[in-house]
Amino acid sequence: MTILIIEDEKKIVDILKIGLKGQRYSVDVAYDGEEGLERALKNDYALILLDIMLPKKDGLAICKELREREIHTPIIMLTARGSEEDRVIGLTAGADDYLIKPFGLNELFARISAVLRRPKKTSSEIIKIADLIMDKKKHEVSRAGVLIPLTPKEYKLLDTLLSNHGEAVKRRKLIDDAWGPDFKETNNELNVHIKYLRNKVDGKTNKTKNKPLIHTIRGVGFVLKEKI
Ligand code: CA
Repeated sequence: MTILIIEDEKKIVDILKIGLKGQRYSVDVAYDGEEGLERALKNDYALILLDIMLPKKDGLAICKELREREIHTPIIMLTARGSEEDRVIGLTAGADDYLIKPFGLNELFARISAVLRRPKKTSSEIIKIADLIMDKKKHEVSRAGVLIPLTPKEYKLLDTLLSNHGEAVKRRKLIDDAWGPDFKETNNELNVHIKYLRNKVDGKTNKTKNKPLIHTIRGVGFVLKEKI
């Protein structure tokens, strides 16, 4: 699980880095607001620790922009300011929680686990994993900005995998969603269509670096996730 820290105070970053790594999180850092926003838009983080007072772009603006772009990565605001007003502004901007500096690492870890335990907020219209985006309103799928034409079956299979991303999806669930509960496989249909889908999403027809996202779990089904 990777946490993005957007914070300009190097001392705080160093403490957070050591602490979070000790808790087995991977850590990515941006020292100013613009870089932070760029990273948050490009990568799929488990959580973002976001300072409010930042060079180039402040934390509230970043938070607002991410939410407007339908990116629902949990955000914990880190703020030196502690007034009621700032707290309200932070939460209105779309943050999940906030911590007032100085804070203890144990308190931070507790807040992080609490936020990560909450059900994932995902937009019903747009699902984004790494550079793969499904826009349900437009019925479009793209990877790294390149549109991927899918058949209706492939689209349904991808929809089920994306809606359950990070979790093993059983073969029967995929068949139920794409063909219906009464369907009985006769010619290995699921594997055939998953193969087509993989070729389009992860394979050579895709012009990106082709980091595989769809993985087989032998005897169970499939999972869509960035790293396995
Ligand atoms: Ca700061």
